[in-house]
Amino acid sequence: MKKKIAIILPTQYDARRRPVYARRASANYNYTLPLLAALTPKDFDVEIIYERLEGVNFDAPYALAAITSITNTVSRAYDLADEFRKRGTPVALGGYHVSALPEEAAPHADAVVIGEAEPVWEALIDDVRHGTIQPVYRSDRFTRMEQLPVPRYDLMKQHLFYSEVYPVEATRGCPCRCEYCSVTGFYGAKFRHRPVEEVLEHIDATGSRFISFVDDNIISDRRYALELFRAMKSRNIRFVAQSTLDLADDDDLLTAACDAGLRFVWCGVESLSRPVLEEAGRRVNRDVETFERRVRRLRSRGIVVASFFMVGFDNDTAETYAEIEDFVMRNRIVPGMNLITPFPGTEFWNKAEAAGRIMHRDWWRYTGYETVYKPLNMTVEEQNTLYRTLLCRLFSPRANVRRFAAAAVGGIAEGKFLHPPGRVRLQYERLAHRARGRPRFLVTGRRRGDAFGPSLYF
Ligand code: SF4
Repeated sequence: MKKKIAIILPTQYDARRRPVYARRASANYNYTLPLLAALTPKDFDVEIIYERLEGVNFDAPYALAAITSITNTVSRAYDLADEFRKRGTPVALGGYHVSALPEEAAPHADAVVIGEAEPVWEALIDDVRHGTIQPVYRSDRFTRMEQLPVPRYDLMKQHLFYSEVYPVEATRGCPCRCEYCSVTGFYGAKFRHRPVEEVLEHIDATGSRFISFVDDNIISDRRYALELFRAMKSRNIRFVAQSTLDLADDDDLLTAACDAGLRFVWCGVESLSRPVLEEAGRRVNRDVETFERRVRRLRSRGIVVASFFMVGFDNDTAETYAEIEDFVMRNRIVPGMNLITPFPGTEFWNKAEAAGRIMHRDWWRYTGYETVYKPLNMTVEEQNTLYRTLLCRLFSPRANVRRFAAAAVGGIAEGKFLHPPGRVRLQYERLAHRARGRPRFLVTGRRRGDAFGPSLYF
């Protein structure tokens, strides 16, 4: 009988450090798990585990428990690792946070994977096979994007998710180096891309018409994006992607994206205040005067626009919060709204730590929903209150209905729903239900591995 490797996405803890479980989630955006499964040699069986939705069996006879996490799930990852190791199961820990602070992770693991897993995964599995697992597997180069295997989409347990959307990756890396973002630190400043024909092969392998690109900016390299979109046109798919707002100004690219099936775009607006964007070390989308025009243009092409915003910067005032509310409501944007959170591995973390402004290292509270970075110009309570009030207003049932109605009218007019109408209705019901009790679940995270997403269309 083959030995089995468990590849685990841990759940989060809530504010009182209790694990959060759910019966189902909106959609499955995690790309790392099926990719690692595909990289695993065939003499091992692989099980992908979404702990939030199905729990974990610590007593199963796994040859290795490989746990990937980000900062707000890393505390749970450590606790899972400790449980497995008590029972004699070897554990490997990896991901952004563990790569930034390997010395913190080491006491919880038999092996710590630093950096991208692809270059070292085979060596790790080989050592598991021979019982010679090493304490550190450090990836000393960035992965070549060519000829990576097709992710094991068949292992993704889509029955645990309301919508069947498949993650596909075309590119990695970002030259922009925004100070608060982990992407440049982890994936490098050089833009890497997969050959277009391989992206098409992966899309075909999903067997689905509904795709979510996990790339941080799908149009980083205009020439590549144009080639990719044009090649995708024949596939008749619908897809979601992240992009900078300058997509709206490029007629050829926008038309190609629409023809390829772009129906929902996440744009990182972050703030409407130029001083705040400068404070954040933001190097793209700084032209605040053009935001509204660009958002309108994307919407006029039948694309639903969702935007990430961050508040809690030193230059933020009560007026800044009010401006964001006004902007979001006026433009019917689906907002992702977070408090600025310094994540280990970023320049922002280094500066915050040097200035003594990190309030604690309770990583499970690094959700972006509470203040963990000492404010300069207001108290923590004042900041948390401003933030929560903004959330309640933006995700009130009335606000959700107005947003949904605008998207529905636009979608019907353009015939451009991401999902068939039945799915849209289901999503609306879930949206309204969530807004009544827990508006925070409508807010999405921005990093690979985050379990939440654009609920309106998923
Ligand atoms: S926030 Fe976006 S543009 Fe800035 S470094 Fe991260 S991925 Fe690049």
